[in-house]
Amino acid sequence: MKHTLPARARVVVVGGGVAGCSTAYHLAKRGWTDVVLVERKRLTSGTTWHAAGLITQARPTYGTREIVRRSLGVFRTLEEETGFATGFERTGTLHLADGAERLEELLRQASAARANGITAELISAEQAAELFPPLYPGDLAGAVYYPDDGRGNATDTTMALAAGARQALAVPGRLAHRVRDQRRRFHHIQPQAATPPRPGESRGEEDEQPVPFGL
Ligand SMILES: Cc1cc2nc3c(=O)[nH]c(=O)nc-3n(C[C@H](O)[C@H](O)[C@H](O)COP(=O)(O)OP(=O)(O)OC[C@H]3O[C@@H](n4cnc5c(N)ncnc54)[C@H](O)[C@@H]3O)c2cc1C
Repeated sequence: MKHTLPARARVVVVGGGVAGCSTAYHLAKRGWTDVVLVERKRLTSGTTWHAAGLITQARPTYGTREIVRRSLGVFRTLEEETGFATGFERTGTLHLADGAERLEELLRQASAARANGITAELISAEQAAELFPPLYPGDLAGAVYYPDDGRGNATDTTMALAAGARQALAVPGRLAHRVRDQRRRFHHIQPQAATPPRPGESRGEEDEQPVPFGL
C-alpha cells in the first residue's frame, strides 16, 4: 500500500535527523498537525547516527544553550511519554581547566549559562576528583560542573521524537522516509510497521532494507 504525499502542507520538514524529528515533534505537540517530514533515506541515517550522545548546556550562545536546556526537559520524560527508550541519563558534565586562562574562559561561559537559568558551579580540583575519581587534581586549576547535563542514545532519542510526533499527528503518512522514486524525485512513501529499531541495527548506506519507524 502506498501513501501519496500531500500536495501541500503548512510545514514541510526536510531531513529526519534529530533536528528534523524534534521540529516535527514540537510542532505536533503545539497542535500543528498539517506537518510533513521527508527523509531521503531513513530516520537517523545522517550525522545523528554517529553522535556520541553527550548533552551539555555549556554552549557559546544564548540560543544554543536554550535549545539544550529545553531539550533536556523533553528528554527527562520522552521515554515515558512515547514508550521508546532514549537511554537518557542525568550524569552531569565536568569542564576542566588546566590553567588560569582556561578557568577564566569556563567562568565566563558559566556566567552566561546562568542567564539562561542553567546551574553551573565553579568547583575545586579536589571536588572534581570526588565526582570523577580517576582525575588527578594536581593537574587542574579548577572546574565547572553542570549537574543537569547528561547523555542519551542519539538514534533512540530521534526515534522516540519521531514516535512522539507520530502519536501527536495521528495521521498516517505524515512522517515519510525513502520517498524518492527511481529518478530520485520525491514521489511516494512506503508505510512501515511502528517498530523501534533493535540495538546495534545497521543504518549504514549499504543496508538497503527499509528500516521500520512507523508512519
Ligand atoms: C562522530 C560524531 C559525534 C558526535 N557527538 C555528539 C555529541 O556527543 N553531542 C552532540 O550534541 N552532538 C554530537 N555530534 C553532532 C550531532 O551528531 C549533530 O549535531 C546532529 O546529529 C545534527 O542533526 P541534524 O538532524 O541536523 O542532521 P542529520 O542527522 O545529518 O540529519 C539530516 C537528515 O537530512 C536528510 N537529508 C539531507 N538532505 C535531504 C534532502 N534533500 N531531502 C530529504 N532528506 C534530506 C539526511 O539523510 C539526514 O537524515 C556528533 C557528530 C559526529 C559526526
